[in-house]
Amino acid sequence: MKAIAVLTSGGDAPGMNAAIRAITRVAIDRGTQVFGVKRGYQGLMTGDFIPLGLREVGGVMQYGGTFLGSARAPEFKTPEGRKTAIKYLEAFDINGVVVIGGNGSQTGASALNDMGMPTIGVASTIDNDLIGSEITIGVDTALNIALEAVDRLKVTASSHRRAFLVEVMGRDCGYLALMTGISGGAEAVIIPEIPTPPQEVVEELSASYKRGKTNGIVIVAEGAKHGVNELLAYCAEQPDIGFEIRAVTLGHVQRGGTPTAYDRLLGTRLGANAVERLIEGEHGGVVGMIKGEETFTPYSEVVGRTKGVDPKLFALADVLAK
Ligand code: ADP
Repeated sequence: MKAIAVLTSGGDAPGMNAAIRAITRVAIDRGTQVFGVKRGYQGLMTGDFIPLGLREVGGVMQYGGTFLGSARAPEFKTPEGRKTAIKYLEAFDINGVVVIGGNGSQTGASALNDMGMPTIGVASTIDNDLIGSEITIGVDTALNIALEAVDRLKVTASSHRRAFLVEVMGRDCGYLALMTGISGGAEAVIIPEIPTPPQEVVEELSASYKRGKTNGIVIVAEGAKHGVNELLAYCAEQPDIGFEIRAVTLGHVQRGGTPTAYDRLLGTRLGANAVERLIEGEHGGVVGMIKGEETFTPYSEVVGRTKGVDPKLFALADVLAK
């Protein structure tokens, strides 16, 4: 294969830079030239390509985000947008594209592949809702940041016997919230997949207070039916919860962290494996990690579907909250 392009698309995730580095160095090792595409599909439709050599990908792995930039590019959803992208790729003699991103990005990669430009995906999203990988690039870092915030909130909460409603990211997927809740020792976890009535949250907090707990933590996924502000307003109207209730939204703080060792290794392994497959002629699917091995899942099994949370773990979080 003469040349390939690599791009990062959609929400940025810590570990993306490790993937770009591995893709570039493995490709060069196999005699394939690499172009980095700036700002995801946006740059693909404007020919914003930069040659990536061994040195261009040095000193990037320890940083979160993506040095290529990312963007949301609605025009890429149109066949005209994708035709323009193919025109630029052909002008650069590029015969394959590695797409590092989540659900939307892999849907775009699938559409491009269907139009005759070979693409392969690298599973990357902090939400962990992508089919084809048990864990995706960025999840571990985002989870550790949320956990550190919860640990700190517990310290201050204990001094004042407060309870915090903590909103964590994850779009429509409750994975990050559930894992933060379990590993952070939360009193309750509120996720989109299994709605919890506000009254149950109040009862849980009130019971925890009566059992003598000095602080309370409720983790609320950003896509939950009843968000932190609604829950805060509801709690304010309830007598006798015991704890004074406060709300915190972690928001984008969760994204920007230094990639953990796990995310650097995951980005490296998935990136290296994806480019090896692409050079050997395999395309039309997403490379992820399943049971400790790099795997290839066809786009047909990935696109239009999302991974749910494990109801057993949700039940366990409830038991452990006592
Ligand atoms: P993520 O990859 O993090 O889920 P988005 O859902 O925002 O991020 O998608 C990123 C980009 O992927 C979009 O801005 C668009 O350019 C492209 N994309 C998303 N859905 C499609 C689609 N159905 N067809 C083509 N491209 C798409």
